[in-house]
Amino acid sequence: MKFDQNCIFCKIANKIIPSTILYEDDDVVAFLDVNPVSYGHTLVVTKGHYENFLSCPKDIMHKVYDLAQRIGQVQIKQLGAKGVNILSNCYEAAGQTVMHFHVHVIPRYNAPDGLCLEFNKIDDVNLPALAEELKENLK
Ligand code: AMP
Ligand code: ZN
Repeated sequence: MKFDQNCIFCKIANKIIPSTILYEDDDVVAFLDVNPVSYGHTLVVTKGHYENFLSCPKDIMHKVYDLAQRIGQVQIKQLGAKGVNILSNCYEAAGQTVMHFHVHVIPRYNAPDGLCLEFNKIDDVNLPALAEELKENLK
């Protein structure tokens, strides 16, 4: 399992620095985000070091999302959340600050909180042409 000695999540996963762990097994760990944007904001991370979702092996990636699903279910059931955002930032351009694969599980409560996700439509795009281009690369 890859360990990066400069990576804060590697250190958390290996108990070198403390965190409030909710669950762990051989492959994944869930702990509370130290700067929560809502009550119960949790991070699910891999034990081994992978840069992000896009470079993580599929079997481990599936385990991360399996745990994220369970955490989200508990946030609804136990914390009374009315909704949950599942979010994984990949690379700096998308807001990733810790370069170790993690998924945010963010409970929402129908109340103002510290999260603002706004989807603003971009200028007109030729959707069929774009789809053709992308489809070619998915074959
Ligand atoms: P991202 O911007 O998607 O890379 O998110 C990184 C997240 O890690 C942020 O929400 C931070 O608050 C969180 N974080 C950074 N250091 C720690 C830590 N020591 N314990 C818990 N969460 C942390
Ligand atoms: Zn790491």
